[in-house]
Amino acid sequence: MYDYDLLVVGSANADLVIGVERRPGAGETVLGSDLAVHPGGKGGNQAVAAARLGARTALLARVGDDGHGRLLLDSQRAAGVDTAGVLVGGAPTGVALITVDPSGDNSIVVSPGANGRLTPADVRAADALLRASRVVSAQLEIPLETVVEVVRRLPEGTRFVLNPSPPRELPAEVLAACDPLIVNEHEAQVIVGGELAGSPEDWARALLALGPRSVVVTLGAQGALVATAEGSVRVPAVRVEAVDTTGAGDAFTAALAWKLGAGAEPAEAAAYAARVGAVAVTRAGAQVSFPTAEEVAAL
Ligand code: ADP
Repeated sequence: MYDYDLLVVGSANADLVIGVERRPGAGETVLGSDLAVHPGGKGGNQAVAAARLGARTALLARVGDDGHGRLLLDSQRAAGVDTAGVLVGGAPTGVALITVDPSGDNSIVVSPGANGRLTPADVRAADALLRASRVVSAQLEIPLETVVEVVRRLPEGTRFVLNPSPPRELPAEVLAACDPLIVNEHEAQVIVGGELAGSPEDWARALLALGPRSVVVTLGAQGALVATAEGSVRVPAVRVEAVDTTGAGDAFTAALAWKLGAGAEPAEAAAYAARVGAVAVTRAGAQVSFPTAEEVAAL
């Protein structure tokens, strides 16, 4: 009865990457490598990850009427994402300017651009898309009031999944809608609003006390923790040789959201998502590193 397994509401960025011997100080110019332009942004990453796994996926986002916007639309369509909900214009496409030094340390400047112009009115205009989707997934690289509008407009029976990244304090109505709230340690700390005490199980209890129906804490190479009021379960990571963890969290979140919508038990869905994240870290890049269902099965 749903047209889409997953609707991602979020950001789409062009990642502009230059390798440098060392990063410049104030007033300084350094020469770098050839420019590499990669499709990115947490929303775009999640949509591509889900579509590559075989989920019927749509994206609600905003890009500029420019070359970067066309590049992002092309890469979404190539992955099989329905881009009818991607709005064009209002500001330049969001960009991340990334310099990477030989040790792999990077400096990043993000210009949200069109992502910052995805408004509550855009959500209201996308009512049909919301009603056609079994699961809606959001992140925080778009205005918070837009995420609030998504939560208010969520049709009965539609599951809402949030990765609050970059993290900030959240209104109670957003927290109460999350099933699950998906956080890493840093995000958990900001949402809880203080130092995290004890084990990841304790963090999950502190997060659950804020109102979400369920919580998933991602722990990198340590896997993840799935928690509800009934208790929590650890999901081990798959042991792999990590090459590049960029986008692993986005791939994990997309896979988890899709599997939960398909009726999987939370621990089962998280175990599948951990396999997806594990494949993603064995390859360089974000969207280009995301596996197909066949590649996950072969792991
Ligand atoms: P984030 O990027 O949001 O901080 P994580 O780094 O925790 O998210 O990664 C998300 C998930 O991807 C983890 O829960 C884990 O299942 C998988 N993952 C991440 N890093 C590794 C790794 N080095 N080895 C195996 N799996 C990993």
